[in-house]
Amino acid sequence: MRLSKMHLKTLREVPNEAEIPSHILLLRTGMIRKLVSGIYGFMPMGWKSVRKIEDIVREEMDRTGAQEIHMSAVQPAELWEESGRWSHYGPELWRIKDRNGRDFCLGPTHEEIFTDIVRNDISSYKQLPENLYQIQTKYRDEARPRFGLMRSREFVMKDAYSFDKDTEGLDKSYQDMYDAYTRIFTRCGLYFRPVEADNGAIGGSNSHEFQALTSVGESEIAYCEKCDMAATTERAGCVDAAPETDVEMLPLEKVHTPGTKTIEEVADFLGIPKEKTIKALLFVTYDDDYKENGYVAAFVRGDRDCNMTKLINALGIPEHQIEFADEEKMHQATGCVGGFTGPTALHDCRIVVDSELPGLKNMCAGACEEDHHLINVNYGRDYKGDIVTDIKTLKEGDPCPCCGAPVKHARGIEVGQVFKLGTKYSEAMHAMYVDENQKEQPIVMGCYGIGVTRTLAAIVEQHHDDDGIIWPISVAPYHVIIEEMKPGDEEQDKVTADMEEQLEKAGVEVLVDDRKERPGVKFKDADLIGIPIRITVGKKAPDGIVEYKLRREEEKRELSVEDAVAEAIALVNKERFGM
Ligand SMILES: [Zn+2]
Repeated sequence: MRLSKMHLKTLREVPNEAEIPSHILLLRTGMIRKLVSGIYGFMPMGWKSVRKIEDIVREEMDRTGAQEIHMSAVQPAELWEESGRWSHYGPELWRIKDRNGRDFCLGPTHEEIFTDIVRNDISSYKQLPENLYQIQTKYRDEARPRFGLMRSREFVMKDAYSFDKDTEGLDKSYQDMYDAYTRIFTRCGLYFRPVEADNGAIGGSNSHEFQALTSVGESEIAYCEKCDMAATTERAGCVDAAPETDVEMLPLEKVHTPGTKTIEEVADFLGIPKEKTIKALLFVTYDDDYKENGYVAAFVRGDRDCNMTKLINALGIPEHQIEFADEEKMHQATGCVGGFTGPTALHDCRIVVDSELPGLKNMCAGACEEDHHLINVNYGRDYKGDIVTDIKTLKEGDPCPCCGAPVKHARGIEVGQVFKLGTKYSEAMHAMYVDENQKEQPIVMGCYGIGVTRTLAAIVEQHHDDDGIIWPISVAPYHVIIEEMKPGDEEQDKVTADMEEQLEKAGVEVLVDDRKERPGVKFKDADLIGIPIRITVGKKAPDGIVEYKLRREEEKRELSVEDAVAEAIALVNKERFGM
């Protein structure tokens, strides 16, 4: 490919809306183009890299025996009503109507569609197991699309669904996908960690996220260096403080604490550690039609953070059906007082108490009265929870839930996820098979996603420097860029064309920069677009000498044309299937 002929427009300036390196660089290299907020198109080089990720995904999926199909992005509402997700998915589901007023959505995932296929086509245990997948465009109407391909409203995703007779079969399907994902992300050149994850809105019983570790990822991961524990902070279990069994309960007492609305202020005022206080968080909940249907007060130890994912799971409601409460409204309904809410004097509201609080004695909590707190508050005697469970967030330095060592935190980009769905969809949608004993059984399902376009962003996030992208060979749009210093010069043209031919014959993909630009401009662009191997054809072309440089290294070497070609072919062959 000749760069002078390529549809390419690079940008010198950093685009205004881009904040993180992958977004900035994919826009600056002209590999992606924004259409509207959260929706991007792919230009020739960007699309080539997307296709290479897809090829890796396809090869590894096929290797497991999974079969590729292709379903429509448009899905009828009826199937989503059967699974219950039409009302539960919330505003991220991109709903549309056809000309007759019939409801559809643009699919964010395809559980319903694949379950529908299988319930129609599979009837006997002899047809199981099966794994079907597709690589396809998905839609999620994000409230705040950001970070370019990282959180966009339209994206390419690989989604696979496994169908088994029983949970042992599912365990094997799950492990096969887990292993395939490990190979896929390794081949893509990503530094990643599989972590235990929350099941979120999809439901089910077991899941892992594949997190590419970066400084800018949207997920926060807690991990342990002493053992294998790795989990999103949404999910990570916490060790409760040791219960104070030997401590005697003191009499409850109301104290005047003027103006102490925060935990810090009240702890300072009373001269007690934050660990002796109880923090309150107030929420309003909504029904399926977004009407308010109740209040929730959650209580954790004063130095802890309430974990929204754990709270939502404890309440058994979807994420979009809970919000922080309007305190004035909530005050009338429940008696709470902003900044002075405690668990002892609330009414008409569900009380969720973190699992360690019942073991802690003589705590300080709000009195539900302006400028007053209660001291010596004790669980059982002074207050009770409707739900008592772990609703706190595992913080950096807290003890590891597996081994007790202090945990570390890192950020990550979720590039893939594997779920054990079990029989959630097959039962709701009646996807059954007849077993060896002629008995009807629900098919046991798993689902497995890879964000293909998000993986592209994660790769750039991990492989770049101040000058631009540094593509791993396995996903680079081209393997080699030949920089011809003086296009039109007979000797240089000949050396360039010969090398291009030899490399392409060996299956190496070559981009020739034959633009009549200053060398500085050409080298800057080459660094920006990040082609892994750069061969410069200049003054020494008549002597058969060229300059050879890898994008990921500083070193430049003068090599004979033959040696440069041989080195490039050897390196590409070594790394094209992943390092
Ligand atoms: Zn540990």
